[in-house]
Amino acid sequence: MKRITTERLTIAEANDLLDVDMEPGFWEALISLISYPELSFEPATQSVAFPSYVPFRELAKEWIEGLETGIYEIRLCEHCATYCDLNRTDGIWAIPDKLEGFICMPCAERMSAREYFEKYLA
Ligand SMILES: [Zn+2]
Repeated sequence: MKRITTERLTIAEANDLLDVDMEPGFWEALISLISYPELSFEPATQSVAFPSYVPFRELAKEWIEGLETGIYEIRLCEHCATYCDLNRTDGIWAIPDKLEGFICMPCAERMSAREYFEKYLA
């Protein structure tokens, strides 16, 4: 019988494996987007953890391709610098036509219209 081990990849290793160069915060958002049982991002160690039977490379590859082709979208909030999954997070845009200048809803709700205008539109 094969023993199940937990694989743990650092962000550098995950980047190498997928041939990308993504920040830990982006990986965290991606892992939450993939939302695959037992695949998790560990903030304490800044690593991706999964049991050895989870096809992490294939999963991540598929989702990264989905991001590249626009099926999924992860955006960095310009205010709190959190990566947000746009399918699950609402937000507002400084330039809605171009989908530029994303602000996540929690930030948008905390900010006054004036503050928003002065920071992002003026
Ligand atoms: Zn935010």
